[in-house]
Amino acid sequence: MSDQDIARNLKSIQQKIEKVATDAGRDPKEITLVAVSKTKPNEDILEAVTAGHLQFGENRMKELEDKMAEIELTDVVWHFIGNIQTNKIKYIADRVNWIHSVEKAKYLKEIEKRAGKANRVVNALIQVNISGEKQKGGCEPEDLANILESAQNYDHVIVRGLMGMATFVDDPEDVRSEFKLLKELFDSHQKYNEGSVNLEHLSMGMTNDMEVAIQEGATMVRIGSAIFGERNYD
Ligand SMILES: *Cc1c(COP(=O)(O)O)cnc(C)c1O
Repeated sequence: MSDQDIARNLKSIQQKIEKVATDAGRDPKEITLVAVSKTKPNEDILEAVTAGHLQFGENRMKELEDKMAEIELTDVVWHFIGNIQTNKIKYIADRVNWIHSVEKAKYLKEIEKRAGKANRVVNALIQVNISGEKQKGGCEPEDLANILESAQNYDHVIVRGLMGMATFVDDPEDVRSEFKLLKELFDSHQKYNEGSVNLEHLSMGMTNDMEVAIQEGATMVRIGSAIFGERNYD
């Protein structure tokens, strides 16, 4: 995609976030835009950086590892948003800032171990299955409490919120209830905030359903195609 397009798209998404948040009575500054750069070349990421954007999301561990090594800018904040493979956590733990897609306590344990070796702290979000579709991943709502409790005494991972992916639909109104469910779980699990658990973020909303997600309380939106253009594959 051309540089002007990426800069223009970023600006228009930021403006949309501002408008939707303000209309919903929320402070737009509470909402972080994660630019999902998966499958896109480093040049596209660097164009976005030039336009002033620093938060990027990737959904493949190897691709994230490579991009983090190649783009050496220390200001860039990297978010992992895809399927976790336990044996690959070690390859990203020395640089990744956020992992949104933690669905099992064993992943937290491995992040704790690997981030500890790198002498750093990684921010984690617990992914909850809000769509009922197995392929979207995420823990079941009833498992959330146990997963949160498992992290309370960790030193190198902080659980800072929840993440969810809604069903893909044409009309985002149809998934408002899924976002509401994640917000309800977020509220009802605040009582597990102790030690390294501090639920303050809700990562929900993609290109298609960002508006509804913000209305329902998202503090992080993960936007790919509206910034970098369509992808040939995921
Ligand atoms: C690809 C992806 C996104 C971004 O999707 P778009 O529809 O391109 O905005 C967001 N979240 C996750 C987990 C993804 O894999």
